[in-house]
Amino acid sequence: MMIAPIDAPRITLDDLKQEALADLTALGYPSAAWLSDLPRPDAAEIADAIIVGGGQSGVTIAAALKWDGLRHIRVLDSGAPGAEGPWLTFARMEELRTPKTQVGNEFNVINLSVRRWFETRYGQQAWADLSRIPRTDWKAYLDWYADVFEIAITNHCEVLDVAPEGDLIAVTTRLGGRIEKSLARTVVLATGYDGAGAWRVPALVSEALAPEKFDHTNGPVDFDALKGLRVGVLGHGASAFDNAIKALEAGAASVDLCFRRARLPRTNPHRAVETPGMMTHYPDLSETTRWDIARFFRSADQPPPVRSFETAMRLENFKLRPATPWLEVSQQADAIRVTTPEGILEFDHLLLATGMDVDLAVRPELKTIHDKVALWGERYTPKDGSADARLARFPYLDGFYGFIPKDPDETWVSRVFAFNSSSFVSHGPHSTSISGHKYAVPRLVRGVLRRLLLDREAVILPELEAYVSPDLPIPDDFETVVAEANRQSARSPETNKPTMRSGA
Ligand SMILES: Cc1cc2nc3c(=O)[nH]c(=O)nc-3n(C[C@H](O)[C@H](O)[C@H](O)COP(=O)(O)OP(=O)(O)OC[C@H]3O[C@@H](n4cnc5c(N)ncnc54)[C@H](O)[C@@H]3O)c2cc1C
Repeated sequence: MMIAPIDAPRITLDDLKQEALADLTALGYPSAAWLSDLPRPDAAEIADAIIVGGGQSGVTIAAALKWDGLRHIRVLDSGAPGAEGPWLTFARMEELRTPKTQVGNEFNVINLSVRRWFETRYGQQAWADLSRIPRTDWKAYLDWYADVFEIAITNHCEVLDVAPEGDLIAVTTRLGGRIEKSLARTVVLATGYDGAGAWRVPALVSEALAPEKFDHTNGPVDFDALKGLRVGVLGHGASAFDNAIKALEAGAASVDLCFRRARLPRTNPHRAVETPGMMTHYPDLSETTRWDIARFFRSADQPPPVRSFETAMRLENFKLRPATPWLEVSQQADAIRVTTPEGILEFDHLLLATGMDVDLAVRPELKTIHDKVALWGERYTPKDGSADARLARFPYLDGFYGFIPKDPDETWVSRVFAFNSSSFVSHGPHSTSISGHKYAVPRLVRGVLRRLLLDREAVILPELEAYVSPDLPIPDDFETVVAEANRQSARSPETNKPTMRSGA
């Protein structure tokens, strides 16, 4: 799609917001509200959808639901204002891994796109010169995007439980020390990459060391405290390299990046499934294909991003150690001792880029629901030789990201949608990622609207019968007037037209 040049002088981001809003209005945003209030005194308090998580998924979903005519949407996030998602907290790379053109949360509205935002802020040449979108700009763009759609995120709001209350869902939150309960017709869990569990710390580390001796790379790290220390990193993903770079930049004496594989992956297999066909219709693939793709992605990791890899390799005191699994870890008087097949390594601090454990039970918001949702391990029997205990723990979601109840009587479970890492086996590896939104968000939105419509099935016909919205600009007694006119014309044939009353 060609983007027209921006007129000189350059417009501001506020001007761009007005242009984006004009585009939205021209495209019929927002649709008319179509969901009537529930017949109960507290109807105004009941959300059509509560979205847990105000990251890029939560914000895009809220925008799409607003566009489709929902008016009572709440977005809750435990983070501080502006700190939603990983971008300004534990993501430590300079730029996104996603190619700059592979975005899609702008709903094909050019003035909503990150490209237009970037050009408005920095100029067209800057976009042309850009290889990847800088991380902090991506977050600034997301904040601007939320502002365009007037999405007010309730921050510092931790969701502690999602449980049934009659036909609705009660969402328990802690906000400023106060525990509150809000009701919703549907709940969307947009809780991110660790939404299906918790960051994984290998037991050989957590059982051997005091907690201050190690950090997970997807959590807070006090890099200043690493000054002068020998740091061991476990893992070879993006965050392993990004944290290694930060540690050395902060003055760490050395960083050894250790991993089990004999060689780093070269190819990024994710790019091969980021096709419109795959991302639109992934849940239509057979269970076996989806299971086997998930198994493939378990074994075929992504390489680190080129920039992170090259930066780390250039740094003095950075050492790459392939084929170096950690076999044993122990705390000695003057060092952490790590046993590897190649011998002993000594460190002062460890950084663990060891991904996530799938364990719904550890998520606070899943306290009530975690053992009521169907899992892949219960619904699918893998072919011989393709069993996988980790994949078996993933929820088996419906075609719209909805949980499926283990017990069919627990119908409330299907009012909760898991638009997070829980969807990995059911919907593929690209739902919440930047490249996935364009295809995945519409599927989730269809699921929420479908649920809300089905809830109203009993009232659809009575509401249809009671529906009054005149198209014809004629008074109620028009037919009487016509009949009278006809009678008159029968008496005097020269008059053969009914007369409209003034104002009709
Ligand atoms: C280092 C790094 C680099 C990455 N690079 C890319 C990239 O280039 N491209 C890409 O597509 N993806 C990348 N990702 C993946 C990235 O995490 C996701 O694409 C993106 O953040 C997903 O957005 P999300 O809104 O689904 O989840 P998140 O952005 O993780 O947002 C989830 C939100 O939910 C909130 N939350 C969670 N639990 C609760 C609760 N109980 N109560 C209230 N709030 C809660 C959190 O506070 C958080 O703000 C990267 C991730 C990391 C860590």
